[in-house]
Amino acid sequence: MKKTLKKKMMIAAIAGSFTVGSFIGITSLQPAEAKESQSNEKVENVIFMIPDGYSSSYATNYRLYKGEESVMDSHLVGMHRTYSANSEVTDSAAAGTAMATGTKTNNGVISMDPDGNKLESILQAAEKSGKSSGLVATSTITHATPAVFASNVATRANEKDIAPQFLQNDVDVILGGGKKYFSDDLLNQAKQDGYEIVSDAQSLNNVKNVKNADKLIGLFAEDSLAPELDRETTNEPSLKEMTAAAIDVLSKDKDGFFLMVEGSQIDWAGHDNDAAWAMKDAEAFENAVEAALDFAKKDKKTLVVIAGDHDTGGMSVGGYDGSGANLEILKNVTATGDFMAAQLNEERTNIQEIVLEYANITLTEAEIDQIKQASNPSFQINSIISKHALVGWTHTGHTGTDIPVYAYGPQAHKFAGLIENTDFPQLMAEAMKIPFN
Ligand SMILES: [Zn+2]
Repeated sequence: MKKTLKKKMMIAAIAGSFTVGSFIGITSLQPAEAKESQSNEKVENVIFMIPDGYSSSYATNYRLYKGEESVMDSHLVGMHRTYSANSEVTDSAAAGTAMATGTKTNNGVISMDPDGNKLESILQAAEKSGKSSGLVATSTITHATPAVFASNVATRANEKDIAPQFLQNDVDVILGGGKKYFSDDLLNQAKQDGYEIVSDAQSLNNVKNVKNADKLIGLFAEDSLAPELDRETTNEPSLKEMTAAAIDVLSKDKDGFFLMVEGSQIDWAGHDNDAAWAMKDAEAFENAVEAALDFAKKDKKTLVVIAGDHDTGGMSVGGYDGSGANLEILKNVTATGDFMAAQLNEERTNIQEIVLEYANITLTEAEIDQIKQASNPSFQINSIISKHALVGWTHTGHTGTDIPVYAYGPQAHKFAGLIENTDFPQLMAEAMKIPFN
């Protein structure tokens, strides 16, 4: 009976791969990779990677910044629609809820439907089927996008209520910021439950040497982790290091695992219109993708799905008098606008020196004056640097544009075409052949 079912499913999946959408997706892949992506092998592990705020404009600008295709580019399979239950423009809570539970909800809500009913996430479904699970982010780990996978709360601001729910849901690996939301009692309980607990890059690295470590909590900052531009001055691990450590621990489970990795701060850079921060954190995210793909290529039973949850800032590629793009200048920017603004003296007489030192840009008198007069000098610095890079922004919130979807591994073709953000968990459950909803 099992065999017949499997055969039927294979026929359905093969038929599915001949839709127009998947044909478009597959033609963009290299031959060897396309072959793997069409495979209907059962998926044991899913790594869901979410670059928060990363729309096609970010993807294009990042390609220009890097000077060549991104690691994600060759795995593009389609796009997804991001609107929430109550708005054409979603926030990360509603977007994450859709991507984790398969149900659209109102902005601000963490894994509850618009009527307040709790929703099951794909992480919880994977746990129920005997798999291990993990959450990795560069924000507080209790922030909206990771939260939707293992908690149900009415408003995303309740981060203190979210932390204990992670443990109740038996999330095996928890890596990111937000130490302040984990009480001593909660961490002591976690220790008794068998978690290794680490707090800096060095101790995270040492977990490799703890043979039987199969549960891990790493909280590397009281609040969110540092932007990638500022990380070197801290003891925090990179997103890639956290991703690799999570895979190390979770892959000990013979029943497989579900891991969500978020590049949280691409979105925050977008809110600040800070093009250099956005590109640097996109690079950190790409490095993490590389770690996931390295594992998946060897493992062959791991599906890696990559998709932002929405656009942030309405970023444009060029758009200044048709004069092209100038992304490469952002490589010389070594600090966020926030950091530069914090270095200004009270009279703001050192604007020229600071922007030259950290952005390698010589400002005009008019630009110096704009920063001097600005009520928000950080934002003004970001606007001027963006203009020099020919990166445009329409505002400081999210936008409702469709978002690229990338997938690698067995069953990757399932994500082809224009899908809904609610399709992600359904398709992942199908790929893992686990019951869901
Ligand atoms: Zn946002």
